[in-house]
Amino acid sequence: MGDFLQRHFASDNYSGICPEAWEAMEEANHGHSRSYGDDPWTLRATNLLRDLFETDCEVFFVFNGTAANSLALASCCQSYHSILCHELAHVETDECGAPEYFSNGTKLLLLPGENGKIAPAGIEATVKRRTDIHFPKPRAVSVTQATEVGTVYKPDELKAIWSKTKALDLKLHMDGARFANAVASLGVAPKEITWQSGVDVLCFGGTKNGMALGEAVVFFNRTMAREFEFRCKQAGQLASKMRFLSAPWVGMLKDGAWLRHASHANAMAQLMESKLREIPSVKILFPREANAVFAELPLAAIQALHAQGWLFYTFIGAGGCRLMCTWDTQPEDIERFVSELKR
Ligand SMILES: *Cc1c(COP(=O)(O)O)cnc(C)c1O
Repeated sequence: MGDFLQRHFASDNYSGICPEAWEAMEEANHGHSRSYGDDPWTLRATNLLRDLFETDCEVFFVFNGTAANSLALASCCQSYHSILCHELAHVETDECGAPEYFSNGTKLLLLPGENGKIAPAGIEATVKRRTDIHFPKPRAVSVTQATEVGTVYKPDELKAIWSKTKALDLKLHMDGARFANAVASLGVAPKEITWQSGVDVLCFGGTKNGMALGEAVVFFNRTMAREFEFRCKQAGQLASKMRFLSAPWVGMLKDGAWLRHASHANAMAQLMESKLREIPSVKILFPREANAVFAELPLAAIQALHAQGWLFYTFIGAGGCRLMCTWDTQPEDIERFVSELKR
């Protein structure tokens, strides 16, 4: 089983670059162009994002999700503020303290919540628990869409969160590393689950959607974008050959590849879920709503699959095995995985 040909279920970032992103990068690779984002590809990608969200948002392209989240959150907060997020949020569990670091000390306040989602009541309770000068003042809420356990916030759930952030004077940040999968799952217009649900800033993931690298930081609240380019530069996130970071977005957005790939990944996860449900000793742990299936497998089965060379994680989120599908996952991959699991 050659690792170079086998597709895995560990993460959507195990996959390669999709053809649309690759071709756009190749097209951008002709002659010279202005640097640091002052090029036609970056302008076009920005305008395509404005078209997609049907609003005049401010857009910045950075290298990865940790930087996107950290810098976006830093632009919401002062060092004496705090940010409310789910206890499983990537900003808490997988970013090595970067949100706190780039915001010079803003504290993350962790909320529990069913299926990886925070609830409006939890926001209010956390904000009201301490309002004295000795405690960092809550200033923002961060939600992950799709969540770390593969579920999706519905528009109504986001609007209920918005009603709290509005009432409590909090900014709303969305970690959209898998935003495309959420849109594909809900079948909504992207605006409906972003600025029409009160999102001030979205970190829109390109990497897990099929690009080599890159995330777009999309500010719907344009005031918050003020001087963001300086934050990016200082953090080492301003690409000098920016066109190679932005051109893939053009490839993904111009004819809807971003949504096709996300829909495909979701459909593959649905197939995986339905196959796993046929096996009595397998327990599905969360509602499967995007491109991940979380399942409890017998320990011996996990060991046997790992021994056969299958790569998948067993420690993400709340435990269990995470089986993640991506733009190039094929039904045969799932058939093979499940038949080996059955054995
Ligand atoms: C992958 C991921 C990110 C981005 O991670 P990087 O490795 O920094 O690109 C952010 N949020 C979530 C929920 C993710 O799954």
